[in-house]
Amino acid sequence: MRLYDTMSRTVRQVETSTPRLARIYACGPTVYRDAHVGNMRTFLVTDLIARGLRHQNYRTLVVQNITDVGHMANDTGLGDAVDFDPDEGQADTEDKVLAQANRTGKSALEITSHYEKAFHKDLAELNIYPADHYPKASESIDSMIALITRLMDSEHAYVGHDKSVYFNARSFPTYGTLSGNRLDQLKPGHRFDVVESEPSKEFHADWALWKVAGSDRTQLTWDTPWGRGFPGWHTECSAMSLDLLGEAIDIHTGGIDLRFPHHEDERAQSNSVAGREVVGHWVHAEHLLFENRKMSKSTGNVVLVQDIIDRGFDPLALRLAFLQHRYRSQMNLTWDVISAANEQLTRWRTRINEWSESESEPMAQTYLDSFTELFFDDLNTPAAINELRNLERDPSISAGSKFETFIHLDSLLGLDLARDIGKRTEVPEEVQQLLIERDTARINKDWAGSDQLREAIAALGFIVKDTPQGQEITPH
Ligand SMILES: [Zn+2]
Repeated sequence: MRLYDTMSRTVRQVETSTPRLARIYACGPTVYRDAHVGNMRTFLVTDLIARGLRHQNYRTLVVQNITDVGHMANDTGLGDAVDFDPDEGQADTEDKVLAQANRTGKSALEITSHYEKAFHKDLAELNIYPADHYPKASESIDSMIALITRLMDSEHAYVGHDKSVYFNARSFPTYGTLSGNRLDQLKPGHRFDVVESEPSKEFHADWALWKVAGSDRTQLTWDTPWGRGFPGWHTECSAMSLDLLGEAIDIHTGGIDLRFPHHEDERAQSNSVAGREVVGHWVHAEHLLFENRKMSKSTGNVVLVQDIIDRGFDPLALRLAFLQHRYRSQMNLTWDVISAANEQLTRWRTRINEWSESESEPMAQTYLDSFTELFFDDLNTPAAINELRNLERDPSISAGSKFETFIHLDSLLGLDLARDIGKRTEVPEEVQQLLIERDTARINKDWAGSDQLREAIAALGFIVKDTPQGQEITPH
């Protein structure tokens, strides 16, 4: 499998540090609200990579974290782009989970367990395989303290005047390589540099590994050698990924907005304790627009998986819509795109149902080869899907062969294409009546009447074919 690596800025072959085992870390959701479909697009990329590698007989070990503490309102977040959303915290240094708890009068735990459940439900709706581990930040505090201690011991971190612990950015010479933001370009007053609220760091680009808690913070704090407080957002991903995957992580995924500062800081932390380049491949999914606009709560432009289901669409139509666009390009999702994908999905399932009744035949090798080549070339799913459309229409390929090929490749696509096999098409009463009338018209050689009835049936969503055995009907 070849994937674009943000670090080297090239499409490179995935190489695993252990033969036939791929270790994958995916930045997960901050569970203070529902993940929107833009977040889902990012999570889908990890699923496609893992499916692809398993298809090539790799074992996969996938870890996706659940952020339930430490993600501040002024940290850039999943799908939030880089600007601060006033809905997500009263002050720009407020914890997103606590802000939501305060707004709703619930406890932090009630908030996080509710949205964590919703996240798993959304993944299941989109046929995204569960990760092997879903570590939570609040349950990994010991491991974060151990990480910070190691960074202190090796002088990559220091205690600031406010007793918070900061990473010393200048102690990591290649800081900025991932995002292209060089330290000397990160001037004081840079938008990520909250100088006013963090007066006690030594250098403007340093960031907090552990934040000291103010007296107003009554939940989600822990005692440490440096005082009572809570972890910085970037600390958790280093601690949990090193803990569960070790010091050689083959692929790290996330949304493009996490590249800086989240992944840049995580790389500095992890590499500093490991003494090596920890991540082999950094993979970032591009932004999703909805109806040409950024998805953001403050502008009311947020779409959830449940909204798609509520409109009567199959959630896997969303999955197909995503597959029809390259993960690395910005995509503009619209209701029309989802609707078209829904129709395509229904049509394929109907065809596969029909083909399933044919003689079994070997797979269509040429299509199989071109599809897999495209899929494994940096997940070129739009072109791969196009190959399936060509296969569907190719008159030289038998129905049995089309059936085998589609079903085999669905293990990569995850579209549940076999779902309708064996399902009888239910023909509504109204259509059945028109079929009887059309039969009579044809017996009477009333061809104009027969054509009119065909159109009336088509308007109700069915196609009539005349065969030696009589009229055959299929939904279109
Ligand atoms: Zn992360």
